[in-house]
Amino acid sequence: MINLFSNGININGKKFLFSIGQIICDAPAKAFLLNVMHFNAYHSCNSCIEEGTYSNRRVCFLGTDAPLRTNGSFRLKSDEHYHKGICPFEELHIDITSVVVLEYMHNVCLGVMKRLLQFWKNGQKPVRFLNKDCEQQISNELVNLHPHLPSEFNRLTRSLDEVEYWKATEYRTFLLYTGHILLKGRIKSSLYQHFLLLHSAIKILISNETCFSLNDLANNLLKQFVKDYPNLYGEEYVTYNVHGLIHISNFVKIHGPLDQFSAFKFENYLQIIKKTIHSAKFPLQDVYNRVIEQQFYSDVHNIKYPILKKEIPYDSYTHKDITITLYENVILKKFKVSSTKLRDKFFFCLTRRLLYLLKKLCCIEMEKFFLKSINMKIFLLFSLVLCHQMSLEIIL
Ligand SMILES: [Zn+2]
Repeated sequence: MINLFSNGININGKKFLFSIGQIICDAPAKAFLLNVMHFNAYHSCNSCIEEGTYSNRRVCFLGTDAPLRTNGSFRLKSDEHYHKGICPFEELHIDITSVVVLEYMHNVCLGVMKRLLQFWKNGQKPVRFLNKDCEQQISNELVNLHPHLPSEFNRLTRSLDEVEYWKATEYRTFLLYTGHILLKGRIKSSLYQHFLLLHSAIKILISNETCFSLNDLANNLLKQFVKDYPNLYGEEYVTYNVHGLIHISNFVKIHGPLDQFSAFKFENYLQIIKKTIHSAKFPLQDVYNRVIEQQFYSDVHNIKYPILKKEIPYDSYTHKDITITLYENVILKKFKVSSTKLRDKFFFCLTRRLLYLLKKLCCIEMEKFFLKSINMKIFLLFSLVLCHQMSLEIIL
């Protein structure tokens, strides 16, 4: 690997150079790669030297201001309790503590968010849903949401009965889009306010527009979330994942918004790789051939956006201008707009006005009519989801 980084690799007379931008993995893999203590040890935080405390048969991390680890302190092995031996990354010219990231798919979605839902569903009485009806109501609304969930969500929301089987993306949807609506009045007010700290901070850090400008605010919200955690849920539950929240905004400063350094893209691609394996005898060759075929196919059919589907025959009611062609569906690079599916009918345009596609692809500004006629919960949901960039001219 050292040779690869120093000299690159020559393929058909073309030299390719390599560098490592990020190393993304879950906590056990990270401890293995860095050759440091496991994530439930006393000295296991990969970002600071906070020492764990033993409480109620668990190791917890109650401080939020311990000095940070640095590339220099890691290589010098200044914290003798943290290192188990030599780490192979030491031979590479990389900033180890910055490149080995704390990523939010494992830490926040499968870590903190999943744990909170377990508390609310099955925890002690003070932290559970206010009553059994609340749990059932949330489950019903998660299922009733299906026709309104835009196509950009790759999984439909499932009821809380199946929460143990939710995928990371479902916890992400709950944290960012549905949780703050569904939980209101269904958990104790103090727990709800506390959840909003996490929701707001992650919302800031996931957006290209706010992850740098409001980074300090997000960091303060997360620190407050971690500080309040022991009083609400018990100090023994301030685990490696909960403590790690105080470091996430720092990684955003280095690598950009959360999705720029998350395991989501690899997790999704793993599914594609798994499906390409047909032969148990030559799995690597199988994957290689399918990936090359896919790349060739994408090059030949270089996709150009917008993709316009289902041209609407001319009629004088929908076609205000005889020279304009209307379509039922428009697929843009990041999302899709449809005049036939309710879930894809709402969006924001560049001017931040909410639009609703009514009658084929004639855009009608709904404003007051819209707000009166639609369930406010759904309105809020869409307002959060569909605020991507969009040019109205593309459609009309
Ligand atoms: Zn730490």
